[in-house]
Amino acid sequence: MTRFAFEIAATDGAARTGTITMQRGVIRTPAFMPVGTAATVKAMKPGDVERAGADIILGNTYHLMLRPGAERVARLGGLHGFMGWNKPILTDSGGYQVMSLSALTKRSEEGVAFASHLDGTRHMISPERSIEIQRLLGSNIVMAFDELVPTTSTREVQAAAMERSMRWAKRSRDAFDSGGDHAANNAIFGIQQGALDEGLRKASADALIDIGFDGYAIGGLAVGEGQEAMFGCLDFATGQLPVERPRYLMGVGKPTDIVGAVERGVDMFDCVMPTRSGRTGQAFTRTGPINIRNARFAEDQGPLDPECACAVCTTWSRAYVHHLVRAGEMLGAMLMTEHNIAFYEAMMADLRAAIAEGRLAAFANDFRARYDAPKGE
Ligand SMILES: [Zn+2]
Repeated sequence: MTRFAFEIAATDGAARTGTITMQRGVIRTPAFMPVGTAATVKAMKPGDVERAGADIILGNTYHLMLRPGAERVARLGGLHGFMGWNKPILTDSGGYQVMSLSALTKRSEEGVAFASHLDGTRHMISPERSIEIQRLLGSNIVMAFDELVPTTSTREVQAAAMERSMRWAKRSRDAFDSGGDHAANNAIFGIQQGALDEGLRKASADALIDIGFDGYAIGGLAVGEGQEAMFGCLDFATGQLPVERPRYLMGVGKPTDIVGAVERGVDMFDCVMPTRSGRTGQAFTRTGPINIRNARFAEDQGPLDPECACAVCTTWSRAYVHHLVRAGEMLGAMLMTEHNIAFYEAMMADLRAAIAEGRLAAFANDFRARYDAPKGE
């Protein structure tokens, strides 16, 4: 049985489309991974996530280690059985969230000590503990533990964090390899750091390639630098990573971010945007996002997106979803989330088809023109 195989079926410019084959299933790339932070893609049942088109979801090490606890999830059969999702799961390493959510963090060469944002209890994540937690969760794609610093930090601080992250990448790889069955059934990705600096990004890529990973993530972007700066970084960062391995841009992003990153050779994405903004009333459409709470939708009998074939758009009207969201009904958040995930997954399917047929540039230009057109809202 294949542990992990990435096959590129077609390329168009720097973009690629293909498949990642794992024991849990096949992931069509470029792929969007809905975020299942606390062992749930918020407001959606796993079967609906699958029907919306997702081949893989993401789980968060930091949240799950604190609640319900990695050892408990392992005793309950791992994340797949616990939450009822049978396809592949990627878990992050906890590095980003421990540094953005927890209090009283203390960083050292060993790892990061911190106080839980839930109850203040003290914990420690090291590269070894992060890999152990991801193994206990039953993750299929495990991420190396890394250190993040703000993109506004000095180059010296950026360089030191990148170099430590590369030492932690080696320790993560070693911990993964000593994990027995874990290593036999799963894959591990390294994470390129170096902020927006081409030289630091290159040094990071070279260090990761020396260690050797199944795939390579691009970390430390989409943290407030803006789309233009992010694309400027991707223009060199993707090319520094191996052609024959999947490239994963972490935490991205808006629809036009994803389209531009696919054009630059990225294969995998995750973002809370479709789920989080669904719960606040923002629906994605081919002609740009709409706020369903807006009074102009109160008697609009059309679907959220006239071009969407999802179960929500083929059944309910904007007027009904508007009513549910305004009334604070749970079903409002559920329908908005389901449509938004379906929108993202349909966009990925359109991107894959455009690459396969050699018309990505035309597709991307048309997508941007329609998505960004003035709406008069
Ligand atoms: Zn829809």
